[in-house]
Amino acid sequence: MYRTHNCGQLNIKHVGQKVILSGWVRKSRDLGGMTFVDLRDRYGITQLVFNMEKDAGLCGEARKLGREFVIRVTGEVAERSNKNPRLPTGDIEILVEELEVLNSSLVPPFTIEDETDGGDELRMKYRYLDLRRDVVRKNLELRHRMAFEIRKYLSEQGFLDVETPVLIKSTPEGARDFVVPSRMNPGEFYALPQSPQTFKQLLMVAGLDKYFQIVKCFRDEDLRADRQPEFTQIDCEMSFVERDDLLDVFEGLARHLFRTIMGMEIEGAFPKMSYTEAMSRYGNDKPDLRFGMEISELSDLVKGKGFQVFDAATYVGGICAKGCAVYSRKQLDALTEWVRRPQLGMKGLLYVKYNEDGSLRSSVDKFYGEQELKQWSELLGAGPGDLILILAGERELTLKALGELRLEMGNRLEMRDPEIFKPLWVVDFPLLEWNAESKRFTAMHHPFTSPYEEDLELFRTDPGKVRAKAYDLVINGVEIGGGSIRIHDEEMQKQMFDNLGFTEEEARKQFGFLMSAFRYGAPPHGGIAFGFDRWVALFAGIESIRDAIAFPKNNSGRDVMIDTPSTISDEQLEELSLKVLNQSSE
Ligand code: ASP
Repeated sequence: MYRTHNCGQLNIKHVGQKVILSGWVRKSRDLGGMTFVDLRDRYGITQLVFNMEKDAGLCGEARKLGREFVIRVTGEVAERSNKNPRLPTGDIEILVEELEVLNSSLVPPFTIEDETDGGDELRMKYRYLDLRRDVVRKNLELRHRMAFEIRKYLSEQGFLDVETPVLIKSTPEGARDFVVPSRMNPGEFYALPQSPQTFKQLLMVAGLDKYFQIVKCFRDEDLRADRQPEFTQIDCEMSFVERDDLLDVFEGLARHLFRTIMGMEIEGAFPKMSYTEAMSRYGNDKPDLRFGMEISELSDLVKGKGFQVFDAATYVGGICAKGCAVYSRKQLDALTEWVRRPQLGMKGLLYVKYNEDGSLRSSVDKFYGEQELKQWSELLGAGPGDLILILAGERELTLKALGELRLEMGNRLEMRDPEIFKPLWVVDFPLLEWNAESKRFTAMHHPFTSPYEEDLELFRTDPGKVRAKAYDLVINGVEIGGGSIRIHDEEMQKQMFDNLGFTEEEARKQFGFLMSAFRYGAPPHGGIAFGFDRWVALFAGIESIRDAIAFPKNNSGRDVMIDTPSTISDEQLEELSLKVLNQSSE
């Protein structure tokens, strides 16, 4: 028998009992006649005591134990004289009578503690050791509980968990496909799903009515920001629903998770904000509603006073940073540099200081008098002690930069409280997005998203203005999920492909199967997919989705533990009818 209890189970009630425990040696300390060992497993840590006076031989053996040795001990539970209130087992210790080393261990390359000395790359290389750390393992436990509650909620709502294939054909989520060569069909390739989008729509045509799947998706993107080439979605689709029917069901899912996982009730219906409103008030299509500091447009107030920068701009706007009038020259210069970074591309930053004594000072004093500065302050809700930050330039760029500046100031002023959660639905996204590189419109969501019927006219006159029945769930500035009501009519789908610049031939080749299915009674339907890794990271309070995943890839898409991607043998290449060009030498 390896154990009667686990390492997190024993407490004062067990004093006097004979127990067997197995686990890893976290650390050991010799204190004269006594050796103390912390024994660790998934469930906790228990202190073991070896007493020189009682059994010198045993104590000698204990002294030879190295970190991460796997051992089994038999002993009696005793009350500790020196209790540790931070450990659930902190009231007791085990007076060891027998010790057996089940396996030794090399010295681990980093300390297996919450605060480790291992850097990212090292932790990933030895991920199986990294996962022994509480802080990382806890995320996997959270992930498990969330997956369980998601399945429970959706099953109760009548959703069926259906698996869709992994070896498929290109899906239109706008990223590059990962492809898999087919040995049996030389020169032909499968693509890995960027999402099960077309399959879940086909399941609706099949009459399954409500589908979900917690599913791996694959997108070959440059791994900027916090992305993984393979990630997990909670993928869902429903028939005979309008937008709000669907949002209700998934608001229910979010509430269920907040309640069961976080022990929180979110008050009131989740707000619904149009994309246009989110952009103009927050400069962002995933606004963080934990704090105000909203953007206001100043264009009308500031133009025509001879100040070139404002007159030449298509948009002038600002935010009010409460209590920041005390910012020094140096701090303001640093902020100016910050908005000038190429990512934001602003030319400069203008400010108005509303001093505590009621006087107003600005970086544009030459052009605007105190009366005008007062007017701006009123519009932005600024009062004594506040600082107004103003950006000017091309409308969209400037709004986005103001959005970033707002988040930065929110961070500096500690207004983004990790304990608070503010979900909202962002709705009515534009259907199309202008792609400056390819000089054509592409689908902002994907080409199966339905436009608003009343906007169809705009297709001919102003395609960029057509609104889509698309929506995102946003929590604390993080896009947690997105979806849309779909096109279910063959003609409309054809028109959409046409608008996206697909020839009929291309559309048929890529998505002919879906268009054919639409000829056999496709019900009105819609769906959504949530980024599961991201949702786990949000609830875990961690910055990166990497630690929400057991075995993630690094920023160059490599798994440094198993060392892949890697080359394959010439025989394998031949079998697949492949030749590698420009193979880089190792
Ligand atoms: N397939 C979409 C995505 O992966 C989600 C959806 O429209 O349901 O973003």
